[in-house]
Amino acid sequence: MKNSETSAHALEPPHRGWHETGLRLQAVPAAKSYALEQVTSPVGRSTTAFRRRHFPRLSISLWNDWRWQVRNRVTSLTELSHYLKLVPVEKRAFSACPGKLPLSITPYYLSLMDPDDSADPLRRTMVPTWFEGVVGPGESGDPLVEDHDMAAPGLVHRYPDRVLFLATGFCAAYCRYCTRSRMVGHQTYGPVHSREAMERAIAYIEATPSVRDVLISGGDPLTMADDRLEWLLSRLRRIPHVEVLRLGTKTPAVLPQRITGDLVKRLKRYHPLFMSLHFTHPAELTPETARACARLADAGIPLGSQTVLLTGVNDSVETMRSLMQGLLKMRVRPYYLYQCDPITGSAHFRTPVSKGLEIIRGLRGHTSGYAVPTFVIDAPGGGGKVALYPEAVVGKNGNDLVLTNYAGGTYTYPDCGGSPGTEAC
Ligand code: SF4
Repeated sequence: MKNSETSAHALEPPHRGWHETGLRLQAVPAAKSYALEQVTSPVGRSTTAFRRRHFPRLSISLWNDWRWQVRNRVTSLTELSHYLKLVPVEKRAFSACPGKLPLSITPYYLSLMDPDDSADPLRRTMVPTWFEGVVGPGESGDPLVEDHDMAAPGLVHRYPDRVLFLATGFCAAYCRYCTRSRMVGHQTYGPVHSREAMERAIAYIEATPSVRDVLISGGDPLTMADDRLEWLLSRLRRIPHVEVLRLGTKTPAVLPQRITGDLVKRLKRYHPLFMSLHFTHPAELTPETARACARLADAGIPLGSQTVLLTGVNDSVETMRSLMQGLLKMRVRPYYLYQCDPITGSAHFRTPVSKGLEIIRGLRGHTSGYAVPTFVIDAPGGGGKVALYPEAVVGKNGNDLVLTNYAGGTYTYPDCGGSPGTEAC
């Protein structure tokens, strides 16, 4: 799996640098590193305990270096068993579904997981299990048929005024429920993210004046090297009809060290630039992530969140409320709650749609409207996002609408029943 990632453009330059220099963790002398370290970032309690236990000779400054985190990702079952007490369904994952989405977890994100509990929510989202080999009805590798809507390599043009630019196939950590698990971390899609392919995608956008909004995703675009990311942003920003740029990323959750002062300084040059941040559980809202979000928000980047509804991870009102309220405190506006897409082997993650509606009902009115995301299904077959709402209109009395509020009370609203401004109003 590592080999499949170490070619073409899947791995970003910082990675190669670490490999080429041959710098090894064991080479860091304890006393010297502690003498030299500059503690500039907050480190959460469980992360500190993890670092002391597994990397006692590592300086905090190196731990907080995002390139070190990427370089030391856990990518094999053997490595994983060093940190977590694996249970049979986890151990059998690799033999049950060879060739599937690779395993990758940053040491930082691993430090947030319970090593003794396979039901730990973050662990469920990242550690493969045997259930990924079970194919349920209606599942497919590309349920949103994005490949069909590729206007150029790596460029999905589905909606009238916006495009999805798949800039890389690499992520610091791979979510087991990923909609694009068919392409992320796999060498076969490498050419899609080559410079030549990107030039073709940019040329398409230049020639298509209806495109006013470009969402850069992947993979995770914030795993790209600063220069490469800035090259792409600057090329897109030069196109007169592209009004808005957006970045979709899970980096603030799995690799918050990546949000460096230098990166933020560069991003600020390309406003209006929005970010959609992928979060799944309140355990992700650590001091490190708070600092990453604060840096982005201070740079004037509007932050929205995207969350996938997942069985055993966040499928309760309490968990979701805690996540959404926590995000809002970090100046991240909850944006979308997604019904999990029916990708191959996802049945163990998918909830009934009624669960999402129950959660929205449990949030709306019970907390600030800013903390309530829109619940959507990305329609299989390429239909795009469809928003779902709990029923609010429960009857009609003549022209009057009978409404139910968050507490279950019923109220009547004197509707116009016709055109606005008529006598009935
Ligand atoms: S970060 Fe996004 S693209 Fe990467 S594996 Fe997770 S869901 Fe997929």
